[in-house]
Amino acid sequence: MVVAPRVLVLPYPAQGHVIPMMELSHRLVEHGVKVTFVNTELNHGVILGALATSDSELAGIDMVSVPDGLGHGEDRKDLARLTDSFSKVMPLELEKLVGKINGDAPERHGRISWFIADVNMAWAFHVAKRLGLRAAGFCPSSAAMFATRIKIPEMISDGVLDESGWPRWRGTFRLAPAMPTVDTSEFSWNRAGDAKGQPVIFNLILRNNAATHLAEAIVCNSVHELEPGAFALFPSVLPVGPLSSCSDKPAGSFWPEDTSCAAWLDAQPASSVVYVAFGSLAAYDAAQLVEMAEGLALTSRPFLWVVRPGSATEELVDELRRRAAASRGRVVCWCPQRRVLAHPSVGCFLTHCGWNSTMEAVANGVPLLCWPYFTDQFLNQSYICDVWSTGIKVPRGGDGEGAGLVGREVVRGKVEELLGDAERRRGRSRCRTSPGGPSARKGRRAGTWNGSWTS
Ligand code: UDP
Repeated sequence: MVVAPRVLVLPYPAQGHVIPMMELSHRLVEHGVKVTFVNTELNHGVILGALATSDSELAGIDMVSVPDGLGHGEDRKDLARLTDSFSKVMPLELEKLVGKINGDAPERHGRISWFIADVNMAWAFHVAKRLGLRAAGFCPSSAAMFATRIKIPEMISDGVLDESGWPRWRGTFRLAPAMPTVDTSEFSWNRAGDAKGQPVIFNLILRNNAATHLAEAIVCNSVHELEPGAFALFPSVLPVGPLSSCSDKPAGSFWPEDTSCAAWLDAQPASSVVYVAFGSLAAYDAAQLVEMAEGLALTSRPFLWVVRPGSATEELVDELRRRAAASRGRVVCWCPQRRVLAHPSVGCFLTHCGWNSTMEAVANGVPLLCWPYFTDQFLNQSYICDVWSTGIKVPRGGDGEGAGLVGREVVRGKVEELLGDAERRRGRSRCRTSPGGPSARKGRRAGTWNGSWTS
């Protein structure tokens, strides 16, 4: 009997890494590859919990878990602390896990022969080599982000960075033509939360860089046409994106998806809805959320706003819901974003510019209003606004994470500017190509999914 190959897939333990690696895993399963997907124990529990299942096989993917070394209830949103902890315990745990799977009747369920690890978990390549397994890397960010990290030693020798990863001067530059502008005050490793945690993040990146050569291949959730400059710098990195689909297969969400917004979207006019979501980690204070709510109300446009569980107090969420309901809006805890962005009623996306959100919007031709929060989101904003011209920036003052309160009038003005511009462009292209009326944007599905969004 020929047993299909089995790969072990290992994401960095954060939502924006789990989702694209789950999508990659679904594609591998479709091609007859068996997948063992490794989450931290906490993430494993929340993913199954969000799906209300105890079955650890999801659409043919074996979901397994290892500890991250943090105690019950400790804050995993502190990325430096999380990284410091799992870096110490996970290599050994992974080795034990593979030993167990490969020792336990491999002739029946297939022996793990490959690791596909997030390039942010490149220490796992050492584990693969120790176990005599093959290794490939998955880059969940842009190829430009990958390039920026790999170029750290060059940037140190060129005097852009000091040995600790901090900029030696303030300004902007590009690594190559057709690449986004890098602002030296916005290197992802210096914008990943509390500055105290920067050494942990920066050292993880240096260790990951050093281990990258152990991977036989690196694939990236991106598209050559979007990033020709970055892929030219690293021709061996293979674009496999956009890993975004509207299938019914589990996405790996950490929160239950509110599918009731499908019917609400179906009831809105084409290209009218402002979709608002800031991914899984970005957080704004109460004053900012109220300004956002007021600004959205002032647009008089319908809006669908994801306010993640835990990102605001219950009283504030109730208040935002009330204000939204009074002004053609709707607040949800978490939604099937990829389907929302594919819906013809969505006109624009107010976003934190996470790479997944960016790719999902670009794949559906949705214009973006950019409000980056941290890590690589500033680089993604530069792609959107300066290179691709598919969005505009929300102007902000001040320094630091989420700094500078953005007033309601600014929110209103920028939504109007973006939607007005998109309407003018559609009008022009309608005159040229489609006198028949408002069609779905190029690449977007026509029609609706009323009743078909069951999770
Ligand atoms: N997402 C979702 N439902 C929501 C909000 C977000 O499914 O209500 C998904 C979104 O489609 C994307 C991921 O969560 O795939 C967020 O990843 P991204 O890189 O945009 O941001 P991060 O969470 O890493 O900051």
